[in-house]
Amino acid sequence: MDNSEISGGRVADVINRAAAVEALMEERGMEPAAAIARGVQSAEEDWVPRNGARIVAKAWTDPEFRQRLLTDGKAAAAELGFSMPAHHRFLVALENTVDLHNVIVCTLCSCTAFTIIGLPPDWYKDLEYRARVVRQSRTVLREMGLDLPQSTQIKVWDTTTDTRYMVIPVQPPETLGWPEEKLVEIVTKDSMIGVSRLPGT
Ligand code: FE
Repeated sequence: MDNSEISGGRVADVINRAAAVEALMEERGMEPAAAIARGVQSAEEDWVPRNGARIVAKAWTDPEFRQRLLTDGKAAAAELGFSMPAHHRFLVALENTVDLHNVIVCTLCSCTAFTIIGLPPDWYKDLEYRARVVRQSRTVLREMGLDLPQSTQIKVWDTTTDTRYMVIPVQPPETLGWPEEKLVEIVTKDSMIGVSRLPGT
């Protein structure tokens, strides 16, 4: 359905609708430009996958932190100074192993633990990914470049409003003993969504 056909009436395109909302906010003294600038700044500078990478690197190097992360992800993230919106009530850390691969999705829309692993990529929001990763996870992962052996079990986790996930990728064996700061550099957003594994794992 085309936007302009909703309810048989005329609906402005997104740009005009956004402009109308902004104008209304202006009228009421709500300073939309400042709010938008804050949002853009958060998206570009604060909600970055490096946050999740720091959590993963810490979990790899500190077994006690890893245990706390697996028990209560939100509290463990807060230890490193990372916050989540109030409605993200739980952060569940899913630990990959050689035999188990976790992958996350939001079948309803596009929810992620965005303050921790960054905003979702465009493909994460596509109906194609949301529908197929549940039913044909092995095939979808292979199409995305991750060809898992049959012996590796795949678990798909469907995000909800209050429960957000992050995948803890397997640490590449050649990085054992690396300092945390160096490990942070190798952890990618895709590996924390679970559509890729790190090299050598
Ligand atoms: Fe969603």
